[in-house]
Amino acid sequence: MIRTPGDWQALRARLEWLRLLGVEELPFVAPERRPAQVSSEWAGTATGGPPARPVVQAGLFGGFEDVDGGGSARSGRRSRGGAPPVSPLATARAPEAPDAATALRLIREDLGDCTRCSLCRGRTNIVFGVGNPDARLMFVGEGPGADEDLKGEPFVGRAGQLLTKIIESMGMQRGEVYIANVVKCRPPENRTPLPDEIGTCAPFLFQQIRAIRPRVLVCLGTPAAQTVLGTRETITRLRGGFHDLEGIRVMPTFHPAYLLRNPAAKREVWDDMKKVIAELKAAG
Ligand code: SF4
Repeated sequence: MIRTPGDWQALRARLEWLRLLGVEELPFVAPERRPAQVSSEWAGTATGGPPARPVVQAGLFGGFEDVDGGGSARSGRRSRGGAPPVSPLATARAPEAPDAATALRLIREDLGDCTRCSLCRGRTNIVFGVGNPDARLMFVGEGPGADEDLKGEPFVGRAGQLLTKIIESMGMQRGEVYIANVVKCRPPENRTPLPDEIGTCAPFLFQQIRAIRPRVLVCLGTPAAQTVLGTRETITRLRGGFHDLEGIRVMPTFHPAYLLRNPAAKREVWDDMKKVIAELKAAG
């Protein structure tokens, strides 16, 4: 519900973030629907309804200018007002709950049998996420593949088995961490999720992140890193060091599927994971 100027600010921040991700269209909203219903959908709190029809909403966004040529992950673009865009994590409305497990359950219930974007048409199962709700380490990929779609669990195919090996090489068990994706339904032919699909589904990821609040968040591949960090930089430029997301240390690195095609890149991923291990140790 939009009740206060702060609510409008949160909605504007969400729209600005979607703009950074390349979303140029918004779901169609019937004229008889009240603005409050619109805001709850973008906050990821709508409870279903018919699939939205896209319509161009040119001019709805505040507009951005590239002030430094996109050289850094966090400062590539800023609003004309001078203030950096607010992270969607700051505006993600994780449900009030006594613990992370309950919050995740409520987020999953809110997601429901989701038809908010067109990816619902090709899925077998929604792949919400799996793992320890109190994890200190969280991994985020871009979306489910065929194996994940069938099982309803992220990273269970060949790439997932490699991710499990990476986790075990870090001295942990898969069940100790939390694993999720930017979009919860399998894109056709395993294509990269489209900006409007990411824009529709990502609020649920940010709610998951807020509920778990891991010490370190590892983004696997370009779409995950771009979504979490709100940048258009590629993974090659983003990886190798930590970025900040509301106090959470974010380490972008290559996706395990890329490592299956390019085994030589495993060395760079391991370099990144050694930094993650050190960060977790330092945090105690
Ligand atoms: S990808 Fe996300 S937003 Fe789209 S239908 Fe699936 S759960 Fe809903």
